[in-house]
Amino acid sequence: MTGALRSYVDGVWRDGVRTVVRTDPAHPSTVVAEVSLADAVLASAAVLAARKAFASWRATPAPARGEILRRAADLMEHQVENIGRDLTREEGKTIGEAIGETRRAVAILRYYAGQTLEPDGETYPSATPDFLLYTKREALGVVVAITPWNFPIAIPAWKIAPALAYGNAVVWKPAELVPLTAVHFVQALIEAGLPEGVLNLVLGSSADVGNVLVTHPDVDAITFTGSNAVGRAVQRAAIPLGKKVQLELGGKNPAVVLADADLDHAAEQVARGAFLSAGQKCTATSRVIVERSAVAGLSERLAERARSWKVGDPLAPDTIVGPLVSDERLKSVLSYIEVAKADGGRLVAGGGRLDGEGHFVRPTIFTDVPAASRASREEIFGPVALVVPAESGAEALAIANDTPFGLVASLFTRDLGRALAFARDMRAGVVKINQETAGLELQLPFGGTKDSSSGSREQGKAAREFFTEWKTIYLGPPG
Ligand code: NAD
Repeated sequence: MTGALRSYVDGVWRDGVRTVVRTDPAHPSTVVAEVSLADAVLASAAVLAARKAFASWRATPAPARGEILRRAADLMEHQVENIGRDLTREEGKTIGEAIGETRRAVAILRYYAGQTLEPDGETYPSATPDFLLYTKREALGVVVAITPWNFPIAIPAWKIAPALAYGNAVVWKPAELVPLTAVHFVQALIEAGLPEGVLNLVLGSSADVGNVLVTHPDVDAITFTGSNAVGRAVQRAAIPLGKKVQLELGGKNPAVVLADADLDHAAEQVARGAFLSAGQKCTATSRVIVERSAVAGLSERLAERARSWKVGDPLAPDTIVGPLVSDERLKSVLSYIEVAKADGGRLVAGGGRLDGEGHFVRPTIFTDVPAASRASREEIFGPVALVVPAESGAEALAIANDTPFGLVASLFTRDLGRALAFARDMRAGVVKINQETAGLELQLPFGGTKDSSSGSREQGKAAREFFTEWKTIYLGPPG
């Protein structure tokens, strides 16, 4: 790609008002992209373009909408390596993870293309003779999608694909750190034949365009994934204006390892959950709660992995842990490591950054961090795991539930009864038995309880709940 990346509004690539550069998290002196940043005027134009395009998109037969998504998936599939490489260069996850994420976006587009052939309503018996009573799920109108940097193509796909499939027009504001991947995604849909105005891309700083997108009178709904602070602010601004709002927020996800677990398997899964993508997943494992007799065995196995997994250039095929996305994130994660140490935590592995350039943090394991420490309670969003001993399964569950968050939780055991009890009693949107906390399948509902979401669910058929609303029709005879 040459020249500055631009916003896409009403079918045209549009210059913004100032240009910034994005750099490679592994090599911060290397520029990855120049971006021409939109202002509030262009963001507002994007909303108006979506409003204008909505009527005919809504009237387009659903299977025809699905065909466009399917073509976009095919186009993107031909480009997965190229897109994956750009994703790695701007976000820093390893090339394997980036290509895998791009493949996931392709699969999500295909899934929602398939959903356009599914029933979109129900019929009911009527109390009145000769009446046909039926319902339809109808599009909401203009949906604003606000997405984070940590899954720069999969999260946009699981918001934008269902929004479009069900007949909405979309304005998308990706995170500022990942414009290159965003442009790839939009280009595939344009080349697939999406009519102008149906999807608009706003590359702007949140300070410049956030408020107008959240409060614009022509916006009907906002689907947001990101931090709790920003998500709750979006909710406070948009709900009083009557907009439908969906928030997917942070986590402090526990993995509970019971004494009867296969410790090699548990350690491998916990390490993957804690350290892959440098721990920058909302579903990352942050607290490892272990029945007392298994603490030494589990910690040793975890530490082995933390020490031996290669940290470095995310484009190198043998790298397992890439850099954090930005200098700001690096400073934040290092500060949590200092908090854990200052509060009495004992370092088992890692504990700092790699020497040299790049935002690399070594996979880090602590024990003995007090439950009240900020490191135990807040989302760290880096490759840091805290090992917490528990005297029994019941205590482990209580510790696991002792958090304001409720996104994902794992349990490792060979005991089916204890697995089922954990699945019943753990307050999390997703519970996984004998599998890492991270890693989702696209056909199931995903979202959190408590402070991890606004209560709605994304992905699978659950996406229809947010992106459509019921209409009820009473059809009677003329006389
Ligand atoms: P963030 O909240 O800083 O930003 C998210 C998005 O909001 C970005 O596009 C940002 O530009 C935009 N934004 C910021 N201020 C805004 C404003 N005032 N108005 C409108 N938009 C605004 O989050 P982030 O750092 O990009 O992402 C990391 C966070 O996302 C973590 O907390 C992580 O747990 C969470 N996350 C949650 C899920 C989930 O599904 N639950 C998935 C991935 C990430």
